[in-house]
Amino acid sequence: MDALLQRLRLVLDERGLVTDAPDIEPYRYERRGRYHSKATVVARPADTGQVAQVVHACVAEQIPLVPLGGNTGLCGGAVAGQNQLILSLERLNQVRALDSDNNTITVESGCILADLQQHAARAHRFFPLSLAAQGSCQIGGNLATNAGGINVLRYGNARDQILGIEAVLPNGEILNELQGLRKNNTGYDLKQLLVGSEGTLGIITAATLKLYPYPDRSATALVALRDLHACIALLNVAAITSSGNLCSFELLPRLGLEFACRHVPGCENPLAGSHQWSVLLSLQASGSALDLESMLQAMLEEAMNTGMITDAVVASSEAQAQKLWYLREGIVEGQRFEGGSIKHDVSIRVSQVPEFIERASEAVCERLPGIRPCPFGHVGDGNIHFNLSQPPEMDTETYLSHGKAMNRIVHDIVDQLGGSFSAEHGIGMAKLDEMQRYKSDTALGVMRSIKTALDPDNLFNPGKVLP
Ligand SMILES: Cc1cc2nc3c(=O)[nH]c(=O)nc-3n(C[C@H](O)[C@H](O)[C@H](O)COP(=O)(O)OP(=O)(O)OC[C@H]3O[C@@H](n4cnc5c(N)ncnc54)[C@H](O)[C@@H]3O)c2cc1C
Repeated sequence: MDALLQRLRLVLDERGLVTDAPDIEPYRYERRGRYHSKATVVARPADTGQVAQVVHACVAEQIPLVPLGGNTGLCGGAVAGQNQLILSLERLNQVRALDSDNNTITVESGCILADLQQHAARAHRFFPLSLAAQGSCQIGGNLATNAGGINVLRYGNARDQILGIEAVLPNGEILNELQGLRKNNTGYDLKQLLVGSEGTLGIITAATLKLYPYPDRSATALVALRDLHACIALLNVAAITSSGNLCSFELLPRLGLEFACRHVPGCENPLAGSHQWSVLLSLQASGSALDLESMLQAMLEEAMNTGMITDAVVASSEAQAQKLWYLREGIVEGQRFEGGSIKHDVSIRVSQVPEFIERASEAVCERLPGIRPCPFGHVGDGNIHFNLSQPPEMDTETYLSHGKAMNRIVHDIVDQLGGSFSAEHGIGMAKLDEMQRYKSDTALGVMRSIKTALDPDNLFNPGKVLP
């Protein structure tokens, strides 16, 4: 590490290195408290050239490096071990270009997602990637984890937003493919190889991303479902009656809403009654040609008349819509006050979501009576956060010791249904066992070949993604 430091001092400016223990602490923080980062040096290059020089220095000294974005990842992907360098992208935060005729924006990877959205909005354009961590996560981290969020139903995930990439590869070369082309059939799609690779194949330094017309208008409703199965019927009605303008479709369980209202100031459930399941849905459009309110009204009438839903609250203003979304986000926050939570970020065919939730809930309750399933999330694209709150009377440590067993039960059911144990949060270190168990040998073999070809010395984020 000393030899590496000497090299880094030659290529980085004063702000480019962090070595004092108290200053390093925020870079070592791991939000779920499951891992302890041991890095003693953080490099903060200011541009792509400096990133490449840091990589050359690491290769020369054979020191592994761990790219760090906004550090909002939930799988331990940005945790560095002893004698590993943290490479923070925070200073590469410029918007390089916005081409409103081409509907593209080129940004550096350290750009905070919310800043990027705002930059696009000032040009009356929309960047649709949206998640609760958007005030801190960086677009490089979003691409490296192929982030999802609340607008995937209509716009797709991070992978669907990228048209071009700039990245520093493990040999220190800079791959520059930042053309904002919607068609480009020139061999392997290297940008897509890097998306979702969690820093194991390259360091993303910039990207060219798609923009959309800014949705001036939206219509939002919180609806009480007759039962869980009505969710899928409602999704179909919503998709048809909204003529492609359905943007978000989020499942909210009664327990989750209770957690939010009990613990998060300002959260209120406007729906009366004792329904077990509700859905928060949102339509968006730009221009004035479409009457979203009438569309939403027609949708709710049909759903009510056919018995899919039993109650609905339509937001009459943007402020009210925000309050409904605040309630949705409050589920995660509220759950923290209910003791330990064992979490799963799974993906199921939309048609099988109710079956999955029923089977998995029954199985975990049978194994651990008193456990409180709180499945919620992006049901419109089949992504359920199957969170399990502890039995109220159990102590947290004992409860969390059941984590692996619960993961096994839930992920086995996901696997039987042909789903995925990782929908949007990635693998990091947290899901290496599941990679080994559920991914085929063939798929793992191809991934290992790619990794070895690009990073023969295993210096880029070792110990992540591949078991
Ligand atoms: C409250 C909350 C809500 C969330 N909601 C969602 C959600 O709805 N959908 C969703 O998908 N995720 C969600 N997440 C997870 C997290 O926000 C995403 O995984 C996000 O994309 C991570 O971005 P980041 O910049 O924080 O990356 P980091 O946490 O810093 O890093 C994540 C991984 O990417 C690598 N990496 C980071 N930057 C680069 C780069 N420039 N080049 C190469 N590798 C890099 C790291 O090494 C690490 O492996 C949520 C997290 C929180 C805390």
